[in-house]
This record gives sequence, C-alpha cells and structure tokens, in this order.
Amino acid sequence: MAAPRGGPGVTRRAAAWGLLGLLGGSVLAADLLGRQLGLGALGARPEPGAPRVALTFDDGPSPFTPDLLDLLARHGTQATFFLTGERVRRDPHALQAMRDAGHQLESHGLTHRHALTLTPWQEARHVSWHPDPARPGRLYRPPWGGHSPFTRLLTRLAGARVALWSAESRDWLPQDGHTLALDLLRTVRAGDVILLHDGPDAGRAERTRALLVTLLPALQERGLRPVLLNDLPPGRIGLRDGWRRLHAMWRAPTSR
Ligand SMILES: [Zn+2]
Repeated sequence: MAAPRGGPGVTRRAAAWGLLGLLGGSVLAADLLGRQLGLGALGARPEPGAPRVALTFDDGPSPFTPDLLDLLARHGTQATFFLTGERVRRDPHALQAMRDAGHQLESHGLTHRHALTLTPWQEARHVSWHPDPARPGRLYRPPWGGHSPFTRLLTRLAGARVALWSAESRDWLPQDGHTLALDLLRTVRAGDVILLHDGPDAGRAERTRALLVTLLPALQERGLRPVLLNDLPPGRIGLRDGWRRLHAMWRAPTSR
C-alpha cells in the first residue's frame, strides 16, 4: 500500500495557514466593525435643533500645540484633545496650557499603538490611563480608532467610554488645508464630532492650521458652534451611523 502523500509536515503547514487565515480574518473584522463602522462606541448625536459640532484633536501634545491653542483662542473656540501618555510626559506645560484655556482633555492611550498589537493586560493599562484621572465620564479614543468589544469592556471597567468621531478632516492627506476644509464642509452637519490632529510634524501641523483657517469662519457662517464633547454630548454609534462613517471613509479623495 502506498504511503499517504505529505505526512505530518503538510498537516502542520495547513494548520499554520488556517491559523494565519483566522487571524487575518479577525483583524479585518475588528477593523471593519471597530474602526470603520465604530459600532457601540460614541460618535455623533445628530440634533437638528442644536446647531453644534465638536472639534477633536488627536495625538498631542506636540511642539505645535501653542500655535494651535493661539489659533483656537483667536476664534473663541474650545476643543477636545485626545492625548497620549508618552507625549504628556514629554510636555507637561502644554497640558497645563490646554487646561488653562478651558479645553477638554481625554485619553488616546499610553502610547500610540493599535489595540490589536496589545496583549489584554497591556490594553487594560492603556485604557486606564487618563490625563485627568479623577474626572467622571472620561473618554478613551483608541489609536486609529481600532478597537474591539473587549476594548469597550476594559474601558467600561476603567470608568471610561470609547469615543470615536463622525466626520474626518483628513488632515493626514497630502492635500492643501483649504481644499480639505471645503471637502469636509460639504458633508458636515449639526451634532458631528470632527477628527483633526495636533502635529505630529511641521507639515501636518501647517496643513491642519490652514484647514482651520477656512473651517472655523465657515462653521460660524452656517451657525454651527464648536463646543466641547462634554457639551455635545456624543451618542452611541448604531448601524445607521456606522454605515455613514463607512461611506465617508471610502468616499473618493478630493481632486480639486
Ligand atoms: Zn492617533
């Protein structure tokens, strides 16, 4: 009788590929459901009768925070900053300046790492860190928005909630800030939570600044007042808002 082809080596290889496929599938599912749809996290709360939006800045503080604070102050605007622990440690003065200006400070994790690269105990430490640990109703925005139901459970246990966004400024794209602002203004509506960034480099900081120079007066013209997330406040993302997020993320890049 002929020996079966392959043997244990082939079986092990098939199992490894199967495991890799399962892992890849899980990553894709987590990305789709967590980051892109955002189901179960906090996002917009559309309120036609309350013409407000929330500006949120991720990844700070940065060397460009003082310029950003100046610009916001010139427009009489307050915003919510999602900060990382490692950057706060490097620049505690920026944290105090944000506090003094009345901005809302929330957590973007200890370091800027995607949830899927963290062990459960590392993720527990990430979601427990907060720039203002004594304050109730704390928010946690996972880096890149990547999170799972497990992240939401850990965040709840830490006394906080996962908060995402409903409108992207796309200030990370290599476009000029004015064009990005016009693009955002085509879709922004009352109740939106707008994603922006504080730094991290000079090029991106300049782009965000140019974007704000167009965006802030335009919001005012439309009667959309930027407020803190505490004053919006954000609502829980359901299927409908999830599909809106997905559509906005995949819309054609601006060509103007
Ligand atoms: Zn980030």
